[in-house]
Amino acid sequence: MRVLAEVDGEKILYLESPKRRPTVATDYLSTGVHGDEAGSAWGLLIWAENHIQTLREGSFLIFPCFNPQGLRHNTRLDNRGLDINRRFDRLDDPITGPWQKLILERKLRIAVCLHEDFDSQGCYLYELSAAKLSISQKLMAACTQRIKADPRRVIEGSRANGGIIRRSKLPPNFPGLPEAIVLWQLGCPITLTFETPSEFNLDHRVAAQASFVSAALRHAPHP
Ligand SMILES: [Zn+2]
Repeated sequence: MRVLAEVDGEKILYLESPKRRPTVATDYLSTGVHGDEAGSAWGLLIWAENHIQTLREGSFLIFPCFNPQGLRHNTRLDNRGLDINRRFDRLDDPITGPWQKLILERKLRIAVCLHEDFDSQGCYLYELSAAKLSISQKLMAACTQRIKADPRRVIEGSRANGGIIRRSKLPPNFPGLPEAIVLWQLGCPITLTFETPSEFNLDHRVAAQASFVSAALRHAPHP
């Protein structure tokens, strides 16, 4: 475990497999960007506690909490009053600048960014990948036992089908780039953003998040 950055006394930590080899593509997991999305941070923790052997044997880069103060205070914004997920393209930011440097030095197999949404009506997923690599249908099937897929046809302004929003190109004019899009720009072949409905039962949200991580790692193609 290392310190990515320290901002106003708040340490942002990351974890990396000790056996990382430059030739092996790394699996990227992250959450806690928005502090009012507790089910996603807890879900990653539960997944990790249940997969100690996987963590020992695999190649992982994990950011368990980009926004510690937000998580403690149940706020979307961080201790600077900023939405980190509109700043991942910024090299001048003390968190996302060093983060970009770290990503550029590594080859990623898949990136999983865990979030929650207060007005969603079920689980949903953004997938950025080439169409032939798409795994989103398998993933939704694996994590919607207790919370069904969000049935809306339009989610956050994007066309959705069975809770899946797929892109193989970047949306134009994004107001500051989110983590998943920058990871894609930096060469990660599949980036997934998973959302559970933060007004639903916490145990069910945590279970859905943990199931999603397992399924994503199981179904991600090996290069
Ligand atoms: Zn979020």
